[in-house]
Amino acid sequence: MRSRETSSYIALAVSLSLLTACAQLGEAGGESPWDDFVPLVAVEGEPVYHLLDGYDPIWMERVRQGVETSRAYWGSYGPTHVWILGRERSGGVGEEQERAFLDEYCACRTATVERTVEECRPYAKERFIEVMERGEAEAYLSYVRETEPPMAELVFINVHNWYYDRDPVPDPVLRGIHEYTHVFQSSFPVTPTWMMEGLAVFTEAWLPWRSGERGIEEVMSYSMEAAKEVLDRGFSIAQMEEVETAPRRVARYHRELAYDAGAWAVAFMIHESKTQRVSSMRDEFYPSVRTLGWEAALAQYTGHESVGSFYDDFAALMESSPAELSALLSRLKD
Ligand SMILES: [Zn+2]
Repeated sequence: MRSRETSSYIALAVSLSLLTACAQLGEAGGESPWDDFVPLVAVEGEPVYHLLDGYDPIWMERVRQGVETSRAYWGSYGPTHVWILGRERSGGVGEEQERAFLDEYCACRTATVERTVEECRPYAKERFIEVMERGEAEAYLSYVRETEPPMAELVFINVHNWYYDRDPVPDPVLRGIHEYTHVFQSSFPVTPTWMMEGLAVFTEAWLPWRSGERGIEEVMSYSMEAAKEVLDRGFSIAQMEEVETAPRRVARYHRELAYDAGAWAVAFMIHESKTQRVSSMRDEFYPSVRTLGWEAALAQYTGHESVGSFYDDFAALMESSPAELSALLSRLKD
């Protein structure tokens, strides 16, 4: 199953590939695809980058810049392969290049499993080449459980579609930051959907702010507006702990609840922590998820009695004035 969105500022939910029998997104009562999740592990060095020959290397460089910025902050986990492909108007990609890309992918994907390269090719063609040829843009993490050990695939297709000269940080860089944050998160036991997407979106705001490339407030206030529209109608991030099994009426607000409200919920978590340091998510919170599970870890990290009381306080926070919310952001430290 894959959760896919293609809106320009949102990258994609962590997806679990090769789970062919699991519930479709938003079908109530489906089985959790996370039950036998095995985390990724700490690895040495950078991910392996793969570029479709004929696609301008500038797009790989921008994605890589984002991934490496994120990796420098969160740490090295994997094994991680990054697959970058696209076709611009000017062309440059022919059948031979496509075949070489699929062969490289299938050789990598089948190295430790029984499937053959021949069996892999049609699946890979549909997943990569056909999406590219339709001109669609995608960015997502796919967690591959069939390989030994499980690995992360970061996939970026036609990211040039998301590039605008006016952006202070090119969107393909932000996609790299976002998706690699999911690699880090996937190296720990399962955490809720709102936290997965919320931290990835928050990181897109935090790291470029930290390096002086763009302000954090504008980005976060955009998320605030989007989140409020849904929260004001009575929805809560408590309903977005697992999008795969959420009822359809909730899952349709995946973006607003997980990405937009989630980004603020993560900012609130950090604000409630002892140090108010973003780096304490990396150094304290996530390691404690290993021993406590996310619910007890969240309560301990934020000093709340329970996840329920955290949700209540977060709902109250979202009623605050823009000035109060902006003050909250200004208190966060690196
Ligand atoms: Zn995401």
